[in-house]
Parts: sequence; structure tokens; C-alpha cells
Amino acid sequence: MPAVPALQALLPEEVAALAGVPLPDARRLVSCIHKQGRLPERCPATVRRVSLDAVRAAGALPTLELVERQASAVDPFVKYAFRAADSNEIESVRIPLEKPGRFSVCVSSQVGCALACAFCATGKMGLLRNLEAWEIVEQLRLVRAELPEGTRVHGVVFQGMGEPLANLENVLAAIRVFSEPSAHAIDRRNMTVCTAGLSAGIRRLAREQPDVRIGLSIGDVRFGRREALMPIERAHSLEEVLEALAEHTRATRNAPMWAYTMLAGQNDDDDAAAALATRLLAFAEATGVRPRLSLIPWNQVEGAAFERSSEETLSRFRARLRERGVGTIVRYSGGGDVAAACGQLARTPASGLVGRGSLRKPQTVRDGHDDSAPLDTPQSSAP
Ligand code: SF4
Repeated sequence: MPAVPALQALLPEEVAALAGVPLPDARRLVSCIHKQGRLPERCPATVRRVSLDAVRAAGALPTLELVERQASAVDPFVKYAFRAADSNEIESVRIPLEKPGRFSVCVSSQVGCALACAFCATGKMGLLRNLEAWEIVEQLRLVRAELPEGTRVHGVVFQGMGEPLANLENVLAAIRVFSEPSAHAIDRRNMTVCTAGLSAGIRRLAREQPDVRIGLSIGDVRFGRREALMPIERAHSLEEVLEALAEHTRATRNAPMWAYTMLAGQNDDDDAAAALATRLLAFAEATGVRPRLSLIPWNQVEGAAFERSSEETLSRFRARLRERGVGTIVRYSGGGDVAAACGQLARTPASGLVGRGSLRKPQTVRDGHDDSAPLDTPQSSAP
């Protein structure tokens, strides 16, 4: 952590107060910080020299080191690995959206994760530490700096390494900067926070950032089954989490995403589909809003003894849901060949990549209601 505040994590009002400079100057300098990654060498005509000097003296501009960039050979996903000053490494993913020229960036919020979901590579790292707000912001800036001419970042998904609601203070600070017009100017409605289920965080997110979307990793809705996949169930039962999510839904009127990782022989049979449909319809009735159900075929992770559900099983599972009036999206996990797909993000300074890639062709299948979502969102973080 820098000895002085990292300017990337501050809003113009905060920079103005910190450095004692007029707000218009702070705004212009914040714009330079996020567009160029630095303060200007020479003072722009629109900024007072004294303001530039004061801001430079008041704050620091730490950054992350780009240590690896892996472009998928089968789709337009790109995975980035960044190293922090303490040598910890994190990953981010550039996600192409359906509308050409638009991207979403999947950012990490922690180094590793304490929640240990059985199907996730990040969970096998354990938690090393929370990321600072500026480290979350820098991921997006560095990915944005590499975008092709004429393209732009349209959205952000907090779905990389870590459980974002376990580092909520810094995630909220990053959301504020991402949406700040003089910084990244990203519409909050195009941001999604994905969680394995921390009730207090879900409620706080609804209070403080009601426009930000939320995704919940379901795992399995059947009693006793979820715990084996997601140990968080012991501390926060699905029932409790769904109650918090229902409050979020009633307060925001935004349809939450339910993310369901399909694991062969674990949660992909008729019984699981029936239980899932019942739970989802009950949630819809209680809140008046139907969740968006994303089915995510599991992506291979080193050290996890699971198999991906077959295409046939997936079709049958969807059919069982459809019979009960529940539409689904089958989410294509891009970048599987470079371990950028859902559940595959993981990294240690010593051994490099932990997640193992697999070669798959792009495919996004929709059934029934849908969202305007990306071609895909990778899931390390839950969904
Ligand atoms: S799925 Fe998300 S919450 Fe679960 S272990 Fe992976 S990063 Fe942590």
C-alpha cells in the first residue's frame, strides 16, 4: 500500500479536497490519470500550474506490472496477468460483447479467495489478500489502454479472482471511479458484481449502488448438496442468501443473475432441474422479478475431480426447466484455451498458471427470456 493516497482510487471531489485545488482542475487531472495513466509533464492550458504541483505532491500513482497477455486462439477473449508490488499476481479478462467494438472487463478483487468453491481454481489458492481499490481500477485502465482504435469498455464484471463482497469497501470505491464521468464513465447498469453469497454485502450493495447488477452462484439448491460444492453454505445458507437477494431485488427492481455451474453427475439430473425450477419460481413470485438463469458448463480446473456435463445432459436439463416455464441462457465461457474461462482464473508468483486451459468453440445459446449481456462473462468469482 502506498504511503500516500493512490490517486486512481479517488473521485475529483476527493482529489480537490486532498490537494486543496479547485474542483475543475481536479476533474481535468483525474481525466489525465485515467486516460494516460499519469499526470501530465507539462501543465495543460486548462489547469493551473499550482494545482498540478499540489496534486502531484498530495498523491501517488502506483501501478501494476503487466506480466502476461494471452489471446485465445479460438475466440476474441484476452487474458491479462498483472503483478503487484508485493509480487502477488492477479488476472483480468477482456471480454468481447455482442455489439462490435464493445468490451467488458472482468476484474479481480482479491489475490486468491477464502471461499474454496470446489469447482473454482481461485478457491484452491486460499486467500492471500484483498486488492486495494486502486489495484482494481488499474486492471481496467491497463486493459483499456490496449483496446483497438475505435472500441471501448462498455461494462465491468467483478467476476475475476476473489469474492468481491468480501472486499466490499474497495469494490465500492472502484465502482465509484469506474462510473465517474471524468474517469472511466461506465454506466453502473453495465457493471455486475458476482458473489458466492454474502448476505450483508448483498444488502449493502443494494443500499449504496442500486444500479449495479448482481449475480449469485447457486451451485445446487438441494438441501445438503450445495455445501459440498460451496463451503460458504455452512456460514450463509442459500435460504438466507436468497432472502438478502430478494431484498436487493425488491429494492432495485433489477433481475439478478443466477449462475449455475453444471457438473456431471453432481447437479445436472432431473431432480436437480426440478428443484432449481421450484426455487427460482418461488423467488420470482416473492419478488415479482424473475432471475436470469445462466447455465455454465464447467471448465476444467487442475485438482478438481469433476467432469463437464455432456451436451445431451445439458439439453435435457434445459428441457426439464423449460417444461416448468423457466428459460435459461447457456453461457459460453470464452478463452478456455488460455484458462480465461469461468472458474479458471488463478495464479501464484511461484508456479504461474494454476487453471488448465481447454479448447472449445464459441457458442452462446439462449432459451426464453434473456438479458443484453456479454457474449460471455468468465467466472472465477462464482457465476
Ligand atoms: S467461485 Fe468465486 S467465491 Fe468461489 S472460490 Fe472461486 S473466486 Fe471464490
